[in-house]
Amino acid sequence: MSLRYQAPRGTQDILPEDQAYWDYVRDTASRICRLFGYERIDTPVFETASLFTRTTGEATDIVQKEMYVFRDRGGQELALRPEGTAPVCRAYLEHGMGSRPQPVRLWYWAPIFRYDRPQAGRYRQHHQLGAEALGDSSPSLDAEVIELLWRFYQELGLSNLTLYLNSIGDGQCRPQYVETLRRYYRDRLAHVCPDCQARFHRSPLRLLDCKQEQCQPVIAEAPSMLEHLCGPCRDHLSEVGRYLEAVDVPYTMQPRLVRGFDYYTRTVFEVHPPEEGAQSALGGGGRYDGLVEMLGGPPTPAVGFGTGVERIIIQLKRQEVPVPAPGRPQVYVAWQGAEARLPAFRLASELRQKGISVLLATGDRSLKAQMRQADARGITYVAILGPRELQEGSITLRRLADGYQETLPASALLQRILSP
Ligand code: AMP
Repeated sequence: MSLRYQAPRGTQDILPEDQAYWDYVRDTASRICRLFGYERIDTPVFETASLFTRTTGEATDIVQKEMYVFRDRGGQELALRPEGTAPVCRAYLEHGMGSRPQPVRLWYWAPIFRYDRPQAGRYRQHHQLGAEALGDSSPSLDAEVIELLWRFYQELGLSNLTLYLNSIGDGQCRPQYVETLRRYYRDRLAHVCPDCQARFHRSPLRLLDCKQEQCQPVIAEAPSMLEHLCGPCRDHLSEVGRYLEAVDVPYTMQPRLVRGFDYYTRTVFEVHPPEEGAQSALGGGGRYDGLVEMLGGPPTPAVGFGTGVERIIIQLKRQEVPVPAPGRPQVYVAWQGAEARLPAFRLASELRQKGISVLLATGDRSLKAQMRQADARGITYVAILGPRELQEGSITLRRLADGYQETLPASALLQRILSP
């Protein structure tokens, strides 16, 4: 049979059997964020498209190729959120959060849309947990955000992750470095891939990020940003490192680490799982001291990260991390004979109103089939209402694990379930 409708390419349904992972990741996220004093923020799924073109960068892949842009019926150009940071900065400005005590620490959990080429761990709709701390330039805040991300992975039970750290400088030192990098590449353009030839003109820093085999020797010999940092950027980076060391967050300096957005300044970081792969980053972020200003706000230094929930769940499965089992209904209400149908429906309702989760048998299954169904759902008790129980005002309660069964007055049922 060919299905007429399927989920759009690159999107997925999150089925009930996977929800335990989602609950686990979301609950852990909200606990860790609270522990670090971050408050939750939710922004709309779509925004004015120029919010992203202006901040993420006209020349970036996200803006050039991946954004879902559309006009609404009023003719406004909107975009489905392709990343989480710019909307948070927009909200920070819109709600005057600059006048709150700084830094303002926020976290979000949101669907993200990118017209990517779908593959394992790469989708057109994915979800990110993100944290942003706005209004403070201290290196301790960079370290705090990185520690938050690291503790989150630790708390989830993931192991063998590597945290890469780099600085891409600021308005003082980066332009000079980019010139040096360009000079270096100019003589080698014939040896690099066509994408890199385009990057050379559009976004030279991204040259360092190319995954093509043929570009690796050129990247390996390229001048390092770390050697071109100005004094303040160098100090900032070494302070971030000192804070991380003080709390035993292990990091590896990676001078070729750059990120996909134009708004980053100074600190950038990524966390990778053990398997190598071009698209393997579990999460990443950095400092973006100029972003709020790009949106027309006052100078507002800030730092944050985003991490992909789908990729985290892939890792949890790969590393066989046990997650808490989803809650199951406690009681299955079974019934026998047409007269029991309505009383069974009422019993289910009464139990639920007392806070007991109930699955009610439907249709005309035999009692045996109802038992099998309860068993398949892993339910503890079956409450049976049949002709005899109706006549006596009783209920038969069967414990599925051992088949122990007793008939009780209806009024005693609740007590029995709550204190077995
Ligand atoms: P980025 O916003 O590109 O820095 O991405 C942050 C994190 O989101 C990445 O490290 C991934 O875990 C995840 N991510 C990014 N793009 C995708 C995608 N297309 N599909 C699934 N996860 C993604």
